[in-house]
Amino acid sequence: MTVRLGCIADDFTGATDLANNLVRAGMRVVQLIDVPPAGSGHDVDADAVVIALKSRTVPAAEAVDASLRALAWLRSAGAEQIYFKYCSTFDSTPAGNIGPVTEALMDALGTDFTVATPAFPDNGRTVFKGHLFVGDVLLAASGMRNHPLTPMTDSNLVSVLAAQTTRPVGLVDHAVVAGGTEAIRSRIAELRANGVATAIVDAVSNDDLVRMGAALQDMPLVTAGSGLAIGLPANWGFRPSPAAARLPNPAGHRAVVSGSVSEATNGQVEEFLKSGRPAFSVDPLRIAAGEDVAGQALAFAEAHLADGPVLVYSTETPDSVRAVQGRLGAAEAGELVERTLARVAQGLVERGVRRLVVAGGETSGAVVQALGLTGLRIGPQIDPGVPWCAAALPDGETLHITLKSGNFGGPGFFTDAFALLESEEAA
Ligand code: ADP
Repeated sequence: MTVRLGCIADDFTGATDLANNLVRAGMRVVQLIDVPPAGSGHDVDADAVVIALKSRTVPAAEAVDASLRALAWLRSAGAEQIYFKYCSTFDSTPAGNIGPVTEALMDALGTDFTVATPAFPDNGRTVFKGHLFVGDVLLAASGMRNHPLTPMTDSNLVSVLAAQTTRPVGLVDHAVVAGGTEAIRSRIAELRANGVATAIVDAVSNDDLVRMGAALQDMPLVTAGSGLAIGLPANWGFRPSPAAARLPNPAGHRAVVSGSVSEATNGQVEEFLKSGRPAFSVDPLRIAAGEDVAGQALAFAEAHLADGPVLVYSTETPDSVRAVQGRLGAAEAGELVERTLARVAQGLVERGVRRLVVAGGETSGAVVQALGLTGLRIGPQIDPGVPWCAAALPDGETLHITLKSGNFGGPGFFTDAFALLESEEAA
C-alpha cells in the first residue's frame, strides 16, 4: 500500500474535515495526532495520511518547525504529493502562519511554485478575483473581522498572503479556472515564468475545484482549505466508494461524553434527555468543591451501560456557564471540566465502552490524550464534517470514536451516530 497524499493540517478539527473530504472522494485515510516517531512511516496502511498539528496560532518559527517534521515523516511514508491544510477563512496574521509554513515547505521540497485556495463552496467559502467570501459577505465583513487571535480585515487574499511571504504572489482568476484544466496549467506556467511563487486560485463551485485538482496533478505541494480535497483523489484514479470508509465491525458498550457548551450540543443533549435514556450531569462547582465527580459519573454509567448508550455531560446553557465562570474563572472551570471528562472517558473504556461519541473541540483533545490515541482511521460520515473513526487503544483493542466540534451535527446526533454504526455493520 502506497501513501499517495501526505497532508499537514494546522489544527485538529481542520484535519478531520480534510480527512473526511478525502474519504468521500474514495481514499482510505488515517489521521495522526501529531507527528509520529521517525522511522514508523512504513507501517501506515492508507492512501492518504493527515497529520494534525496545533500550529495555526503558535509563533511562526514553531509552526514551521512542526510542519517540517510532519513533512519529513510523510516523505518517509512515501507521500507523492503534500497538502498543507489551513482554515477556510484563511486564519492568519501578517506574521503567519500560512505564508512562512508554505515557504518553508516549498524550500524543503525544492519547488519554486505552489497554489493557495481556501475555497470550500459546500461550506459557503468562495474565492473570486482573489477575494474570499464567507457566505454572502466578504471575509472582512464577516465575523472573522473580530476573531480574537486572527482578525481578518482584508478580503483580498493576494495582499493577505503577500504580507506574510517574501516571494511574489499572483492570481489564477475565475475566467481561467472556468476555462478548464489546460487553461489553469498554462496560466500557472505563465505566472511561474514571471517569477511568481504562490498563486491564489479562484473557485466558486465544486466544478472549479475539480478542474483545479486535475491541473495540480504534478505539483509537489498544494496549500488549501479542505475544499481542494474533492479535486485531487481522481488524479490517482480514486472514485467515491463506500469501501474507502469501511471500519472494523464495532463491539462493546456505547457512551457519549459531552463537554461542549455550544448551541447545537445543547440541543443534542436536550434531545437525548427527552428520549429518557440514562444521563449524568457533571457540575463544575462540585468538582471545584473536591467531590469525586468522575467516580460518581462512572458508578452511574456502570449501572446502565448494558442497556444502551449512557450520556455524561457538562453541557449547560450560556447563562449557566457564565455563572460558573464568574465563580471559578473561565480557564479554571474549563480545565476542571476537561480533566474530569477525560477521566470519565478513560473509565468508560476500562468498563468496556468501545463506541464513544465525544462532543466539544477542547474536550475531544483532552479525551484523545487521556486515552493515549495516536491515530484514527476515518470512517463513514454521521453528519457533514463528522465521521466515525476507529482507533487502536494502547492495548491494541479497537475503539470506535467520533469527535464532534461544538456546532456540528443535527439534534439527534447522539443516537443517530450509533444507528449509523449499526447499519454499516449490517450492510
Ligand atoms: P465547543 O467545541 O463547543 O467549543 P469545547 O470542548 O471546545 O466545546 O469547549 C468547551 C469548554 O467549556 C471546555 O473548556 C469545557 O471544559 C468548558 N465547559 C464545559 N462545560 C462547562 C460548564 N458547565 N461550565 C463551565 N465551563 C464548561
